[in-house]
Amino acid sequence: GGPPFPNPNLMRPPAALTGPPGAIHPSPVEVYLQKHEVTATGGDVPAPFMTFEDTGFPPEILREIHVAGFTSPTPIQAQTWPIALQNRDIVAIAKTGSGKTLGYLIPAFVHLKRRRNNPQNGPTVLVLAPTRELATQIQDEALKFGRASRVSCTCLYGGAPKVHQLKELERGADIVVATPGRLNDILEMKRIDFRQVSLLVLDEADRMLDMGFEPQIRKIVNEIPPQRQTLMYTATWPKEVRKIAGDLLRNPVQVNIGNVDQLAANKSITQYVEVVPQMEKQRRLEQILRSQERGSKAIIFCSTKKLCDQLARSIGRSFGAAAIHGDKSQGERDWVLNQFRSGKTPILVATDVAARGLDIPDIRVVINYDFPTGIEDYVHRIGRTGRAGATGISYTFLSDQDWKYAPDLVKVLEGANQHVPPNVREMALRAGGRDRGGMNRFDLVEGDGSRTRWDSGGRGGMRDGAF
Ligand code: ADP
Ligand code: MG
Repeated sequence: GGPPFPNPNLMRPPAALTGPPGAIHPSPVEVYLQKHEVTATGGDVPAPFMTFEDTGFPPEILREIHVAGFTSPTPIQAQTWPIALQNRDIVAIAKTGSGKTLGYLIPAFVHLKRRRNNPQNGPTVLVLAPTRELATQIQDEALKFGRASRVSCTCLYGGAPKVHQLKELERGADIVVATPGRLNDILEMKRIDFRQVSLLVLDEADRMLDMGFEPQIRKIVNEIPPQRQTLMYTATWPKEVRKIAGDLLRNPVQVNIGNVDQLAANKSITQYVEVVPQMEKQRRLEQILRSQERGSKAIIFCSTKKLCDQLARSIGRSFGAAAIHGDKSQGERDWVLNQFRSGKTPILVATDVAARGLDIPDIRVVINYDFPTGIEDYVHRIGRTGRAGATGISYTFLSDQDWKYAPDLVKVLEGANQHVPPNVREMALRAGGRDRGGMNRFDLVEGDGSRTRWDSGGRGGMRDGAF
């Protein structure tokens, strides 16, 4: 049969994205798109849903949104929902904390409503995500917002025995959320059937590629019927991501939120950067922690698992801290995260891999004890705070070895109107002299389909390793 509720796109007049040349009064849509830095390319892009009423979502879904207390769609939701409802492929580039999860989950619920398959014959919707923490968060969100729509959802991830996951899978699920490694294992065991999959989501595609999941992703996607809809989300738009998007998506609409050029550092985060010698980091860390309001949540990022454990132990006594990293069992990780979420342990000491994709709503402070191995990770890390409109603070320790990141860091700081300390600027200038940095990473697809090379942002010279 036809759709169970009126498709809003059929009821709305096709809205032009831009007014006539020389228009004096921009349309409300134009004002919205400009204000939220939304750009969409790919032909016949529908107008954004600026309010929840605009969406025409079924009442049971709107009710759950209302219960959650949300007042309006986030810009990524506003622009991608109408496109997704047209069954088109999307590649969306937006910073963390922009509401991407519901950006694809709600269209997935609508998709399920339009085509009810028997979940026992395999999932209809498949979501790939980089880490188990992120995968279980997506499942939680799917179960919460899909409750009234009676959506079933199961989760497959590594680091836990397969037995239980396989049993859940046999019981059947409309949506399967999985990390690529575990899903590929289960696929090779022939314990999952993809014949019904008609909506594929790749969440945090850039992270999945960073983590080396490309072969698994390709094997999985090869098993999915080609007449599917594919939605891909990424925080960054480097060459590798563009390549896989080109291979897996069909005539996608590309949606950018914010200035990708400036690596989308969230302007509601106050970023402090200081040059701190290795020997003085711990003392400075304790000073910062003492200056925070008691009990406010903080994440400290370090480069090694060992340092995570050491730091958690030494600051734990005075401040309440726990470590999370790849050597911990799933049970330990769950426990630590719960303690952190509930506020019983207000400080989390983490490696990048462990913290990837975590959505913990009220993190006040992010501390980069060690600088990450790339500017994208810097933006990702500080993106743990300042989520969903809250304000946040980040402190970053830069030691002399980190000079090569200084030019990119200065760009990110300037892009977000942050103070650049003179010694950091000087470090950047010196690094610029040694390495003018391969900074051309973002090829943005323009409205006319041509590509523009953006001469900014990027990893500086770290990849060419000449110095
Ligand atoms: P991303 O995947 O882009 O990093 P998430 O999907 O994890 O972001 O969303 C970040 C937070 O914003 C979550 O806590 C989520 O519940 C919340 N959120 C999602 N949509 C809305 C909305 N329309 N209004 C307010 N908050 C929202
Ligand atoms: Mg997300």
